[in-house]
Amino acid sequence: MKIKKIEVFSTHEPYKRPIPIAVGTHDSRDNVLVKVTADNGLSGWGEGSPLLPSYSGEVRDQMVDDIVKRIAPDLLGQKIATVDDILSLINSIRRNKYYFQCAIAAIDIALFDLLGKLKKKPVFKLIRSYLKLKKFTKLPELPANFTVSRNATKKDDKIDEMVDEADHYVSQGYSVIKIKIGIFKNSDEHAVKKLSMYMKKKYPERKVNLFVDGNQAYHKVSEVLTIINKIKPYIDGLEQPFHRNIPYLSAQLYNKFKTIKDAPFLITDEGSSSIEEMENIMMSQAAAGSLLKMVRSGGFSFVIWIAQLLRNYPKFKLEPMSMTETGIGTTANLHSALVIYEHCNLKSGFGFDGPMQVIGESYKTGNDTTLYKNKKTGWIIKNKKGVAIYDLKQVIGNGEGLGVTINQKYVNAITEIKTDVYLKKGKIAKEVINFKKNKKIKELIGKQKTILKHPRY
Ligand SMILES: [Mg+2]
Repeated sequence: MKIKKIEVFSTHEPYKRPIPIAVGTHDSRDNVLVKVTADNGLSGWGEGSPLLPSYSGEVRDQMVDDIVKRIAPDLLGQKIATVDDILSLINSIRRNKYYFQCAIAAIDIALFDLLGKLKKKPVFKLIRSYLKLKKFTKLPELPANFTVSRNATKKDDKIDEMVDEADHYVSQGYSVIKIKIGIFKNSDEHAVKKLSMYMKKKYPERKVNLFVDGNQAYHKVSEVLTIINKIKPYIDGLEQPFHRNIPYLSAQLYNKFKTIKDAPFLITDEGSSSIEEMENIMMSQAAAGSLLKMVRSGGFSFVIWIAQLLRNYPKFKLEPMSMTETGIGTTANLHSALVIYEHCNLKSGFGFDGPMQVIGESYKTGNDTTLYKNKKTGWIIKNKKGVAIYDLKQVIGNGEGLGVTINQKYVNAITEIKTDVYLKKGKIAKEVINFKKNKKIKELIGKQKTILKHPRY
């Protein structure tokens, strides 16, 4: 099967409430969705979620520019029949290791969705068999985590509002709550303690794990040790306290944690967004584990490289996480969780709350990029112990590719600009529809081989 056309959707969705994290407050997410169509009529969908330039080095409109000018020329007309075909294509597109990770993720996920449809297999099965991992006799449960944060003001620390939101999700079965810290440092101790006490009192029969996420807000090991000593009895994990560029501080902290009784599980996030950063964290023993944000880090190729890397670091743990993705990216990450399930830290759970962070629970009834068969639960169900798990049968769907049905109506509703790229007599043609300006532009943007006018070396 040969790649014939790439459709790029520049989307915009406001969050249901602003989400403050230590590096800034987010009001909306601007993600890129892609649909890649082959000459046999099959098509695959993917998503890239840049969050912030300070996180990924990318933003939505630049991702589209990269896809059109620097990825499409290498992709259009190429033949895809195996996992290796996709890996070598992605490798050739990658060129510079630090760029493109989100843009590549969108394309990579779409290619794997496409290959899964061609082979009539779910993506996770395709990749597990490629990596020679054993078959599941029964699909594993993925305990869900949900992330909360506080929009504190001078007058109100908003702790009660945060506790209410966390309670709403724990009452539905969620077993892990992740709390953003480092924004309102003076009230963090009180907030974490209050949430912990509340959960213990309201759910005495259950263990609700609390993780705190520093989002790079701390500058000294001693500063982190001070807050951790205060909140240690209430938390199970600590995520990315230091800036991504200083993993040696994380290594120093991790070393200290080894001498402290009941120290939290130390995990990186921003600091392990590329395969190079991930390897650096493992090699320098800078943390016990890392988040796995494949939608921001190169897609399934990234997951495959990590799975191969983990053969040398078997104790290193991963936490698949999609807090800013729609159903497409979130489902892709769910497949990646099934690929590396044996390396996952079950205590920190799995973060697949992207669809809920934007439209709340109406994602079940049409407000998301994918259609959910079970309108009552979406894809989140409770097990007998009240632990929220993902309805894998539903997510795996008809067993082909990502296994989801795309909700084109919702995709159209959140799309501000749509860009199509395709080959026309050896030249790349581009069609842009700007829905905000009600404008349509059609142009030939150059010969496929010479189109790399703006290489990012
Ligand atoms: Mg984080």
